[in-house]
Amino acid sequence: MDCIICGKQVVNENNRLQKKVKDYLRTTSELDVKHRWIKQWKICYGCSESYTNDHLVGNSEVLQKIEEQKKRKKQLGKALRHKREQEPLAELRAYYIEKYIDYATCKAEQKGQHIAKPPPLKNSRQYDAAYIAYVKSSKSTAVSIVRNLVKDIDTKGKWIDVRHVEKRFLSHSDGDFSFIIVELFSRKQKPSYPKKMAEETNSDYKNRIAYITWQTATADIHHQRTQGIQGDVYIVLPCLKNEQESMYEKHYIVWDHSHLQFKRVRESNQYVNILKSPIWRYEIVAAKQINHQQLRYIEKNLYQIIGKTHKKSAVTLSIFSPQKKKGAASKLKKELKGERDRKN
Ligand SMILES: [Zn+2]
Repeated sequence: MDCIICGKQVVNENNRLQKKVKDYLRTTSELDVKHRWIKQWKICYGCSESYTNDHLVGNSEVLQKIEEQKKRKKQLGKALRHKREQEPLAELRAYYIEKYIDYATCKAEQKGQHIAKPPPLKNSRQYDAAYIAYVKSSKSTAVSIVRNLVKDIDTKGKWIDVRHVEKRFLSHSDGDFSFIIVELFSRKQKPSYPKKMAEETNSDYKNRIAYITWQTATADIHHQRTQGIQGDVYIVLPCLKNEQESMYEKHYIVWDHSHLQFKRVRESNQYVNILKSPIWRYEIVAAKQINHQQLRYIEKNLYQIIGKTHKKSAVTLSIFSPQKKKGAASKLKKELKGERDRKN
């Protein structure tokens, strides 16, 4: 079915549309024009969002659009009927399927666009600009990767300060990083958490707690830095993977004799394979502690190191060390090993 306003095909939107109708019925006993149309699949979800009932009933601009769409549909119907008489069903199906595959694949991709959504910040006026920027930034994603996914780094009782987070070269996603460098500080200041307010929802309360934690962490890290305290530094190499990469699912499409059109059904022997929506997951390729001398080397040579990540998509830890002659390298290794042993 095509939307009578914009002409877009209304496929796969049924659940969302019917929920709208249900929600509406909860408050009134009768459907208005808009919701009647939604129920009948006459308008797409997008249009149901952008127009109110009054718009649809009384607005001449919208009515004109509907008129034009009706005309277009009539002409299309004529052309299709003409086609139908001339072409065998198989060809018509091929034509329809091609359009459907485009549509469904695009929908699936759209659905998987967001990797790590920041928590919704309601009442954003309560938060300062620096925090809002932080939640939206790759730094907050980097912190949650290090805290939740890297098993080799014990972050209990520590603040995670992101020294550097590098977006993977040419990646389409902002959450795709080639490397992360963090410094961990002991929690010296303890955040004091207020009780949940009665009028507050759980997610609002969670946001507020997260904000207080962030304030404390920022202040504590700043204070420790000014005192010259150095934390443990780690390099983390994450890899963003699509769990459903190259996976397909069957969409069953049959010819609906009563309405003379193709439609998607739950089960049939006729189907097309449609790419599944991506499900994104981080894998940790490597995580390694480095000392502050190595950190200085990395920060001094950051641009060369980033340049190396542009050459290969698979980043390894070796790009963070100077390329030394064999003898020197093993000497450095020994030194590092000695230092590790002393620490342990
Ligand atoms: Zn529409």
